[in-house]
Amino acid sequence: MIKLTIVIPCFNEKDVLPAFYERLCSVTNKLVKQYEMAIELLFVDDGSSDGTLEIIEQYSKEASDISYLSFSRNFGKEAAIYAGLEHAQGEYVALLDADLQDPPELLEQMYKEVESGMFDCAAARRTDREGEPLIRSFFARCFYRIIRKMSGLEIVDGARDFRLMNKKMHRAILLLDEKNRFSKGLFPWVGFTTKWIEYENTERAGGQTKWSFIKLLFYAFDGIVAFSSAPLTIVSLAGILFMILSAILVLFIIAKKLIWGDPVAGWPSLACIIFFTSGAQCFFTGILGYYISKIYAEIKRRPHYILKDKKHLKHDSNT
Ligand code: UDP
Ligand code: MG
Repeated sequence: MIKLTIVIPCFNEKDVLPAFYERLCSVTNKLVKQYEMAIELLFVDDGSSDGTLEIIEQYSKEASDISYLSFSRNFGKEAAIYAGLEHAQGEYVALLDADLQDPPELLEQMYKEVESGMFDCAAARRTDREGEPLIRSFFARCFYRIIRKMSGLEIVDGARDFRLMNKKMHRAILLLDEKNRFSKGLFPWVGFTTKWIEYENTERAGGQTKWSFIKLLFYAFDGIVAFSSAPLTIVSLAGILFMILSAILVLFIIAKKLIWGDPVAGWPSLACIIFFTSGAQCFFTGILGYYISKIYAEIKRRPHYILKDKKHLKHDSNT
């Protein structure tokens, strides 16, 4: 029997989990009947402190097709997705957020698209950013434009992590075991064919987003660093530009002195230039440092996550 594993990363989702579970179950029950398939729900508790894990444990006691992984602390959504993909055993694997922003009803269409063999993956893409602060939407759009240019990858604006993929793509994603994970880039990087399913943005059904503006900004920069070395090229080019500009300036000052006999004017302009260039140098060194910090994180070879507890269907035991 064909099996679909649905990976659900959860971090402090106590408020929304019961509504999510009820809605998901009505979708999965229908799929199981209609397509004669088995569905496993694989919850990944990313170090929640609000009782989310207790709710998941309860669900897994009530139903045999629910397993879970629980982290020793919060490792971040990317680590939760990776852990889920590592443990997923189905011929098809889906990723789904627990906050009901991704309508689980789309799973049926996703399954049909991938099962038909026409596509390796079916992914959700929101067509609008209703309910999002304007400034955040503006920066998000700029970010997608920049990262597409810099990485050369088709990183789609509005693409969600919500998707269903076949075994081939699932295996390919697992081959990329880098620590600085940026799933929105990893999926297009591995290639394969993706069917985009569009839907209108929905707000969280409860609880709160875990992404502050600053967190998103760093995540965006991590994404660029993970898929492009263009910032390094840009700062090198800027360095060359500064050198050329200062050479022109020196020639201009010498010519001015020789032709008109002008004394060298004013230290304020000099001070401004020094301030500007040293600021630029610090910024450029910072970019370099950011890449080095990412290399440092990779070479330490620490695990993506640490498990505290799990119930995994393969062994059907708490280990
Ligand atoms: N999440 C997680 N670990 C984190 C942050 C988020 O597992 O450190 C989960 C969260 O519980 C939710 C999903 O990732 O199921 C998406 O999180 P959120 O809604 O905060 O992000 P957004 O929808 O704003 O991208
Ligand atoms: Mg969300």
